[in-house]
Amino acid sequence: MAALASGPGLRRLDLRRTCGPAPLRPGAFLNPLRLRILAVLGLAMLATACVDSTVRPIENTHTPCQPLVIVPPANVTVAELLSIDDAIELWHGRGAPNLTREEVPGAPHVPLRFETAAGMFYGIYLDHIGELVINTTLTDRRERAITIAHELGHVMGLVHIARTTRTSLMNTGNLVTPPQPSDTAALAVQWGACPPAAP
Ligand SMILES: [Zn+2]
Repeated sequence: MAALASGPGLRRLDLRRTCGPAPLRPGAFLNPLRLRILAVLGLAMLATACVDSTVRPIENTHTPCQPLVIVPPANVTVAELLSIDDAIELWHGRGAPNLTREEVPGAPHVPLRFETAAGMFYGIYLDHIGELVINTTLTDRRERAITIAHELGHVMGLVHIARTTRTSLMNTGNLVTPPQPSDTAALAVQWGACPPAAP
């Protein structure tokens, strides 16, 4: 695991550019638990949409036009729940009216958990297993919500958009931009425009 943390694999991933620009702190990876989390996430990120979705298609994507249940961990905090609900609300009316935390019979689930990962990324979609991970170093409610909304974008098949192309929720390292009309349009290209969710 130490080899992964300090070897060429991480350098090649250039994590700050891909999933979040938060600076790495010297020695931050020396903690054994962090090393283990880093190894697991690092391996996962080799195959995650947050690294480079141009390499291969994102796996385990879900249509925004059917119910999709976001499942927080059992130990979720009130603040984290608020951000999850904010993220869901950010997408409602912007192309994804069926995201929910409420159980819906037969609907797919997307587990979401919070991990501390030394600020190396804000959030990732582990698309090969269909799970979201959000970094606990994000403590601002709005920034955490934007990050969750961004990762939900990956869940719905959206790829990264370069800032030089346009301002988008799907800009890498984005902590401020909510879903834009162009993001709604990108969803509609993939899935067709969704009718409003049933009341
Ligand atoms: Zn991303």
